[in-house]
Amino acid sequence: MNQMTNHLPTAELQAIDAAHHMHPFTANTALGRKGARVITRAEGVRLTDSDGIELLDAMAGLWCVNIGYGRKELADAAARQMMELPFYNTFFQTTTVPALTLAKRIADLAPGDLNHVFFASSGSEANDTNIRMVRHYWALKGKPSKRTIISRKNGYHGSSMGSASLGGMAGMHAQGGLPIADIVHIDQPYWYGEGGDTAPEEFGIARARQLEEMIAKLGEDNVAAFIAEPIQGAGGVIIPPASYWPEIKRICDAHDILLIADEVICGFGRTGEWFGSTSVGIHPHIMTIAKGLSSGYQPIGGSVVCDEIAQVIGSDEFNHGYTYSGHPVAAAVALENLRILDEEGIVTRVKDTTAPYLAKIWKSLEDHPLVGEAVSHGLMASLAMTPDKAARAPFAAEKGTVGYICRERCFANNLVMRHVGDRMIISPPLVITPADLDLVVARARKALDETYKIAQDEGLL
Ligand code: PMP
Repeated sequence: MNQMTNHLPTAELQAIDAAHHMHPFTANTALGRKGARVITRAEGVRLTDSDGIELLDAMAGLWCVNIGYGRKELADAAARQMMELPFYNTFFQTTTVPALTLAKRIADLAPGDLNHVFFASSGSEANDTNIRMVRHYWALKGKPSKRTIISRKNGYHGSSMGSASLGGMAGMHAQGGLPIADIVHIDQPYWYGEGGDTAPEEFGIARARQLEEMIAKLGEDNVAAFIAEPIQGAGGVIIPPASYWPEIKRICDAHDILLIADEVICGFGRTGEWFGSTSVGIHPHIMTIAKGLSSGYQPIGGSVVCDEIAQVIGSDEFNHGYTYSGHPVAAAVALENLRILDEEGIVTRVKDTTAPYLAKIWKSLEDHPLVGEAVSHGLMASLAMTPDKAARAPFAAEKGTVGYICRERCFANNLVMRHVGDRMIISPPLVITPADLDLVVARARKALDETYKIAQDEGLL
């Protein structure tokens, strides 16, 4: 045991990890050969690994550590709640103070009449709830044929059978028999990659109209809901043209289709508003929440539901729930997290200061020879790498080859930035300072320079 760091030497940790730990979304044999990086501590926006190396975490963990690492208040809230009441369920006509208080707090923050919360432990679970809830809602309304849910290719809604079916990730659908029945997908509003010669606003309308075409094809009486992320996250931080969301809203209203906004990434300040729906001007019937709700300090998620759906669902027994729905410790931690986000003005600061600053310095990366576009919305940002800026062309090499090289160069420069195909993405903790954003961009630029050189040397350009 290494006394300084209180853990085994890195190589031994990696060997144990390789022997026993199956990582999500990972080719585990290859990772086992290379050795996973062992993250041991974190403070603010910085991680420390088992060799004592410090990394700037521009991904807020997995889009979730909105208030940054190391907030003792959240640990104290968890400890207090664990001593008082570590667990009780909410199934059999009982409730707990943290669960009911958190439900009210979320209802107060949520726009419009989104006043009711069905808790889960993750975004995936909450989206599974949504599938069952909207179908049951229509059944109770005497319209059981309204079952199909329309979603989008390259959307991400989770990894369970239901939520991964809602998602439009081809690589996920290729494994394990997905999607489940009565879920269909339309194209995404990804102008840079798919817009061709069409002007962005025209393209946004065209992509939104695919929803109307799909509703017409299926028949309005067979469609329950449309689900989408206000801004696609895992798909590559794809920001739709401004024309897209107003048209989607019009179509949902015109055809009596429920709108589900998946706020798992966009919620709790990421966009500079409490919810991404507000930032793109929509009024969903249901919002999926997780991640930033507790800043990732505890696993908790949920479905935030409007009055009408809650009332209809409440008229019958809804045969659905998770052991940890409304878990008191997770709820207590989430409450403390929301208090900090609010009282420290973190969401307002994103809107007024940090997001405009990021937008400016991120855009400056567009002068790099590899970068076709560099865009941001709130504190989420992406850039597209291309061998030909004018044509917005993809690389000849397999998609993601250059993205992976760049990600590795970021890691080597002590910056956690993720790649989705050949797009590079960031979503830093909301407490990041302008000075640290400068550092993110400086390290990203260095990684891009190194990637450019490698791509040249390997004939990828
Ligand atoms: N929805 C969105 C938009 C997400 O980004 C994610 C996770 N990245 C999920 C749902 C699934 O959440 P979880 O991983 O907590 O199940």
